[in-house]
Amino acid sequence: MGKLTYYTQDGPLFQAKRGSLGEKTVKIAIYTLGCKVNQYETQAMEAELLRRGHSLVPFEETADAYIVNTCAVTAMSGHKSRQIIRRCKKQSPRAVVGVCGCYSQTEPAAVAGLGVDLVSGPAGRMAFLDDLETLFSRREASPLVTVGNIMSTRAFEELPAGGLEGRTRAMLKVEDGCVNFCSYCIIPYARGPVRSLALDKAVVEAKALADKGYKEIVLTGIEISSWGQDLKTGQSLADLVEAVCAAAPGCRIRLGSLEPRTVTEVFCRRVSSLHNLCPHFHLSLQSGCDATLKRMNRKYDTARYYESVTLLRKYYVNPGITTDLIVGFPGETGEEFEQTLAFMRRCAFTAMHIFPYSRRPGTPADKMPDQVLNAVKEDRAHRAAQAAEELQHDYLQSWVGQCLPVLFEEEKGVVWRGHAPNYVEVVTTSAESLHNIEASVHITGTEGSSLVGTLQDIR
Ligand code: SF4
Repeated sequence: MGKLTYYTQDGPLFQAKRGSLGEKTVKIAIYTLGCKVNQYETQAMEAELLRRGHSLVPFEETADAYIVNTCAVTAMSGHKSRQIIRRCKKQSPRAVVGVCGCYSQTEPAAVAGLGVDLVSGPAGRMAFLDDLETLFSRREASPLVTVGNIMSTRAFEELPAGGLEGRTRAMLKVEDGCVNFCSYCIIPYARGPVRSLALDKAVVEAKALADKGYKEIVLTGIEISSWGQDLKTGQSLADLVEAVCAAAPGCRIRLGSLEPRTVTEVFCRRVSSLHNLCPHFHLSLQSGCDATLKRMNRKYDTARYYESVTLLRKYYVNPGITTDLIVGFPGETGEEFEQTLAFMRRCAFTAMHIFPYSRRPGTPADKMPDQVLNAVKEDRAHRAAQAAEELQHDYLQSWVGQCLPVLFEEEKGVVWRGHAPNYVEVVTTSAESLHNIEASVHITGTEGSSLVGTLQDIR
């Protein structure tokens, strides 16, 4: 590798071999938009940049290079991505700016037009960092655009697993891509086809995270229910979960969002016997009306969805069942929305994320007739949120008087917060540090969306 000249906003800084620190440090700031997968990939890039001898600074500070890891899931995410990119140039006009992620994959020309130096997509993160380093020494008048055809990407890019919230919870990305093509979603066009981390590699990563002291591992991906489809080994998500639970028996294993049809009698029988799998299942609902689900191109109806909820409650005692909901989808009538409200209540969700439908250019739903007025969407989102709050309150109340094992993450004075296996936040007081400690808490009441209680045994 040749010598590189590193630039700061004040001009050439030093020459060094690519990847080495040289005499001074190149300051790099990263801004991440969007989902847990993007956060995971940012953590992997951060770890790699540190390994290459660079230093990381908060995004608000003046840096020598900025990375913006963009999101395209809604039109608002694209707008926010553009805003952040412009902010980099304002903060430090001579800094190298590299943009990656889903928005730059779907709108590379729009991103290139913002005066950045490098435009990449959500794949090939390590090559992206190589290109960024090269641009320190060889600035070009026009941006280097490396966005490729994501639809022909077949390999899973292995990135080092990383942690969140101190050193308590780590994410392990086991899957990328999605081929479900829900009619409102741009992600299949941004992330490409399903690619899975091989089971034996997931086992090695899980063991390594447990050895590093993490007490919880979240299996994450764009659509983890599709895990294994591309591997042609006949293995399913249940095989992966069993293997990861066995590889890290001292860690809690938590599942990311599941396609509702993943939950079958066989799946429940297998995973409910795993002592360290959290009884928390996020089954994306999106609508509680069959006609709307059909227009959304979701592959289940409410009857099949309810079967999954019933199965989980048969195999687990009072599990956490959470979901996402989109209100105001094109063509959603008042009557259809009422069906969704009734179905939410029937499922008795423990927590919900509710989104007013957001048009995404390039998706079939954007071209559908009968788009719903913003004021109607907002009203429905408000009503759904009220119903969700009532359901959550009922669920929280059902734990009062019982004990829950809580993995503590953060403190404010003597107040400690952590999560129970069902993913409910639990608050307690302790003069001693509880960070990364699992302790039993006797639940005495509720506080907003949290449980409160008194500390019992510390494990
Ligand atoms: S399952 Fe549907 S909503 Fe989820 S990423 Fe795939 S296309 Fe998008």
